[in-house]
Amino acid sequence: MNQNQDFLQQFELEVGVSLQQGVSLATYSNFRVGGPADYFFEATTPIQLKVAVSLARRMRVPYYLIGGGYNILFDDKGYRGLIIKNSISGMNLSLEEGYLEIFSGTRLGQLVSLAAKKGLAGLEFLAGIPGTVGGAIFGNAGAFGQSIGDLVKQVEVMDLDGQEMRLDRGALNFGYRSSSLKNRHLIVLKATLEIKPGSTAEIKKKVDSFLEKRAAKHPPAGTPCAGSYFKNPVLPDGQRIPAGYLLEKVGAKGLRVGQAGIFPGHCNFIVNLGQATAQEIRSLAAELKDRVRRQFNIELEEEVIFIPADASML
Ligand SMILES: Cc1cc2nc3c(=O)[nH]c(=O)nc-3n(C[C@H](O)[C@H](O)[C@H](O)COP(=O)(O)OP(=O)(O)OC[C@H]3O[C@@H](n4cnc5c(N)ncnc54)[C@H](O)[C@@H]3O)c2cc1C
Repeated sequence: MNQNQDFLQQFELEVGVSLQQGVSLATYSNFRVGGPADYFFEATTPIQLKVAVSLARRMRVPYYLIGGGYNILFDDKGYRGLIIKNSISGMNLSLEEGYLEIFSGTRLGQLVSLAAKKGLAGLEFLAGIPGTVGGAIFGNAGAFGQSIGDLVKQVEVMDLDGQEMRLDRGALNFGYRSSSLKNRHLIVLKATLEIKPGSTAEIKKKVDSFLEKRAAKHPPAGTPCAGSYFKNPVLPDGQRIPAGYLLEKVGAKGLRVGQAGIFPGHCNFIVNLGQATAQEIRSLAAELKDRVRRQFNIELEEEVIFIPADASML
């Protein structure tokens, strides 16, 4: 039996689900870009995820975990290994004790809806940020001066050896679009968020106002993109400057490479105009970086994560 068949069989035996093969990754990235993955699997329970990761490690099959696919760019060549999509969702609210336990594959949208329904204040800024709780914690997603790290009390993670541990907020070193999870690429299984009670009317009002602000500057829902392409860089005086402002100054508006273009309302959004390739998106990004470097002597850093065909979390 060859290694491929062996892995397929063993996966079905241990995880209890058949692996999909040759799945187009364009379907699983909001950029709508990416070639086929050798193997693909959607985990819906923590145990499935743990067994899948441990099997991939044992059989030396490269793997990579994704959430909603809103901050990633897959390779045109796809992925040589196993892509695991985290769809483990569910929450447990204890309003009296001031916390909410939430599985990492839960959509941020579900969290915001629950907050509006049950009167949980402080989560409103997450309204309109697409993706899962795990993806958000990994990159400390945020908006309007607040980030999800501010709400995290503790996370349950799995390391690359399959060891589970609990980490408090302090150990996660949350920073601007960063966390220590990125250094070791720990997998977030569950998070405990601190919550406080609030008026549902006030919460809904805030949510609506954040959504309105976003609608005014972001591409319309359904536009194939991955949000802001670059992080806002830090100036020598320590201040952050919007990357979109610098990009506008270097004439980004109207630039395109093949089917990759700039959203006219916000220069930090690279959009797929139809049949863009990852290569086109990356060469447009390289051109933008080059212009900002030459004109401002500032090195832009990508917020969007490119996943090469041979990347691995192993
Ligand atoms: C229209 C639009 C608007 C956006 N606006 C914002 C915004 O206002 N603020 C903001 O911060 N971002 C924004 N984004 C980017 C995106 O929504 C966030 O980065 C989001 O947190 C990505 O979550 P995801 O589940 O889609 O992660 P993915 O894109 O699937 O994955 C991103 C990274 O997270 C890792 N990851 C995913 N799940 C886990 C897990 N459970 N454990 C460990 N690692 C994990 C993946 O391995 C990958 O490296 C926007 C994107 C779009 C398309």
